[in-house]
Amino acid sequence: MLTALKNKKKNPASGHNPSLDALNKKYATLTPLQRIKELYKDFDNILLTSSFGTTAVYLLYLFHKAGIRQPVYFIDTTFHFSETLEYKAKLTRMFDLEVIDILPDKKENEDSKLGELWRYDPDECCRINKVEPLGRIKAGFDVWVSGLMSWQSSYRMKLETFVEKNGVLRFYPILDVKETEVLQAIEENNLPVHPLKPLGYESIGCKYCTLKGKKRKGRWAQTIKTECGLHL
Ligand code: SF4
Repeated sequence: MLTALKNKKKNPASGHNPSLDALNKKYATLTPLQRIKELYKDFDNILLTSSFGTTAVYLLYLFHKAGIRQPVYFIDTTFHFSETLEYKAKLTRMFDLEVIDILPDKKENEDSKLGELWRYDPDECCRINKVEPLGRIKAGFDVWVSGLMSWQSSYRMKLETFVEKNGVLRFYPILDVKETEVLQAIEENNLPVHPLKPLGYESIGCKYCTLKGKKRKGRWAQTIKTECGLHL
């Protein structure tokens, strides 16, 4: 039995918790919007995170369209671009979001800033400022929803809609949505664009580790690192 599925509501048809394969099979034929609605029939305690990056608006828009009121957790490393925080405020107003900031340990965060830890050990910097803060809260949820998409990286290409890792069930409802579909949805629905996107930033994280670049090429550009560790 997968740990992350233990708290799941019983499948009314069988009376048993469905396996991960069964969940993936069930959700495979659904649209992203249908997947989000279905999730709320299948699970109780749902964690939604957003980076308020260049594609974040699409998932938030789908939740809004589904009529679901769901707190949005934002990992505030304290190293974000001011433009990201402005964008976050804009989307918060627009979708009437309840955003909950998750902060790192104050001392460790200050030390990593003073030592410019991202230069010497970006994995440790991400662990302190992203992975640990989220790790403190995610155990309290049945499933964690985020907006990863296959086209974003070779790592993400290998994921499935539901993935269980380290006892946490992750749900990626827009994993199979193409980049062109996201851009089209943003344009057709007049959704706000991250202010740095028109300047050439296609993926945006902390200001110290983000350069202009296609897809995720501008993230940790001088290193072999491609993921912050949250999804690994
Ligand atoms: S993205 Fe860079 S600055 Fe942000 S937590 Fe990771 S290493 Fe540190």
